[in-house]
Amino acid sequence: MMAPQHFFNRMETSQMEQNRINTGRRSFLKAGSLAVVSAAIAGSVGKAAAQGAKADEKDAQAQSLGYKHDATKVDKAKFAKYQAGQTCANCTLYQGKPTDAWGGCPIFPGKQVAGKGWCSAYVKKA
Ligand code: SF4
Repeated sequence: MMAPQHFFNRMETSQMEQNRINTGRRSFLKAGSLAVVSAAIAGSVGKAAAQGAKADEKDAQAQSLGYKHDATKVDKAKFAKYQAGQTCANCTLYQGKPTDAWGGCPIFPGKQVAGKGWCSAYVKKA
């Protein structure tokens, strides 16, 4: 027959073992979710960096070309060539897809222009 002390020692050992497993599992789960979150952050940062910041309507280049995020707000008196319906999304220079809200444009290197935007360098997409 097992001495009571041995019995308790065995119970303690198995409890400690269980704790170790649980802790290990928790750490694994924690590490797993951290990895997912890190990957998501890295993905969105990478995407943003690749696409660049939005063009600033107030910067000198934008002002001289009459760029507006919203084509309907273009100063028509100053930029008479603007015609209703012309937007970055249907401009030859727009690097996004026609349905993209924002996309690159070589006129504003490293920046994004609005699909609904317009500037006087507009060239109708063929
Ligand atoms: Fe938009 Fe075209 Fe002007 Fe670029 S060149 S800002 S795509 S209208």
